Amino acid sequence: LQVQRAYNFNAGPSALPLSVLEKAQEELIDFRGTGMSVMELSHRSRPYEEVHNQAISSLRELLAIPDTHEVLFLQGGASLQFSMIPMNFLQSGKKASYVMTGSWSEKAFSEAKLFGDVYQAASTKEGNYRSIPKLDELQYNQEDAYVHITSNNTIYGTQWKDFPDTGDVPLIADMSSDILSKPIDVSKFALIYAGAQKNLGPSGVTVVIIRKDLLERANTNIPTMLKYSTHAKNNSLYNTPPTFGIYMLGEVLNWARDLGGLDIIAKRNEEKANFIYSVIDNSNGFYIGHADQDSRSLMNLTFNLKTPELEKKFLELAKQEGFVGVNGHRSIGGCRVSAYNAVPVEACQAFSEFMTKFQKENN
Ligand code: PLP
Repeated sequence: LQVQRAYNFNAGPSALPLSVLEKAQEELIDFRGTGMSVMELSHRSRPYEEVHNQAISSLRELLAIPDTHEVLFLQGGASLQFSMIPMNFLQSGKKASYVMTGSWSEKAFSEAKLFGDVYQAASTKEGNYRSIPKLDELQYNQEDAYVHITSNNTIYGTQWKDFPDTGDVPLIADMSSDILSKPIDVSKFALIYAGAQKNLGPSGVTVVIIRKDLLERANTNIPTMLKYSTHAKNNSLYNTPPTFGIYMLGEVLNWARDLGGLDIIAKRNEEKANFIYSVIDNSNGFYIGHADQDSRSLMNLTFNLKTPELEKKFLELAKQEGFVGVNGHRSIGGCRVSAYNAVPVEACQAFSEFMTKFQKENN
């Protein structure tokens, strides 16, 4: 049976690799001879534990996570991390600093304000979040509880190319929309978190990578479920985890490994983004990229057309031609192509051809 797969540029939840979906379909009713779906297995059973531990070790391997760090699978999305981080690490008498690069940084900052004293280490809001601040422009204090950054700004389409070296101040990053898109040096970070629904798998599981010494330093007067240490002590099996999501995550990790790992994936993502950025750059102002060139995201490519009328026509035609999810986020409008890991090269190539053709016919 030949299925027609959409050119899926949704920002999240977003495309999953076809081979992963096919494998899940094959295993759906009888998971590896158990006579049950993976969703029906006890989370305390041997077959499920294998799935769970395999997903953890695959993530460790792909991201080269050092032994100093623990991998956790939590629920509540990246949004719950906005609260858990200050609850756990913003001790009274301390301050935490946030680098403001878009709407998700703003949400993280607002949540932290509910728990303690926070301030902005830098912000590119004045320039409508077109850029990432220069590393030497960040103003935080050595006494801060932590510095928080958003590594990829899903809505504005900007991405950090290098990360700051914050020394003894714990560096915390929301990597929801670019984790696994390229190799990173995990040892630079005290905590990395990501909702799974872009590069990692379906929504419902949130990955947290946390340096072990932070667990010991965390506040204790918070609910059990909201303490990182609860989940670390129990291998993320304190309560029922999102078992199907973790199974899918494990399969996505196997797919990424089989593709050749993160160096290869990073090259592929560059190639994909270049198809579209090169059309924008050679369009003589017909297409206008939102992000400054040195801050451009390889995951979310944001742009406008030279008039609102053309933009409306472009988006309608894109939809008709089968390109899904090209409308910009409801808060800023415009166009956005999300080219996460599972989006094939051909989809980006086809879209760049569509853009070129549209310009020719409407210039
Ligand atoms: N952070 C970033 C960078 C995101 O892109 C998103 C969702 O798109 C979130 C946080 C919120 O994630 P969740 O829906 O898992 O709470």
